[in-house]
Amino acid sequence: MAAYDRDNIFAKVLRGKIPCHKLYEDDDTLAFLDIMPRTDGHALVITKEPAPDLFGISPEGLAKLMGVVQKLAPKIKNAVGADGVLIQQFNGAAAGQTVFHLHVHIIPRKEGVSMGREGAKMADPDALAATAEKIRDQIHSDEIRGEAGHG
Ligand code: AMP
Repeated sequence: MAAYDRDNIFAKVLRGKIPCHKLYEDDDTLAFLDIMPRTDGHALVITKEPAPDLFGISPEGLAKLMGVVQKLAPKIKNAVGADGVLIQQFNGAAAGQTVFHLHVHIIPRKEGVSMGREGAKMADPDALAATAEKIRDQIHSDEIRGEAGHG
């Protein structure tokens, strides 16, 4: 298993040292928008455990992380009017991982619209803020309607 660097960028986001466009938070996880989105609504769900990758997290922590991915993905998809959702997760530099704190990508996909390259460009902060607000509204309205969160 890779060593965990407590000063990695997502550890700093968790400590509030670096800002993020937050979508959701609970005791075990934090979800926020990717600053270099591959599509509109591209989000990351991270564990609060100091785990560098999939192999460094407890089974309980992984279940909680994936539970949040399962709950949020359809809400993000609906908020941005997507047709499908790509769930992606990288382990190790050779596999494409660039931030060594376990995270899962939620990437909404629209029929016929191609996905940008990873890390291609920083999004406009105002556009990210607007997307984050739309997604938080969707989460909130689902809560008000008391939906289970599937679909
Ligand atoms: P990877 O490690 O390849 O799964 O990807 C890390 C992702 O984190 C990339 O998609 C980056 O665009 C994204 N990223 C890097 N720094 C930040 C940050 N400060 N806030 C939000 N997303 C970030």
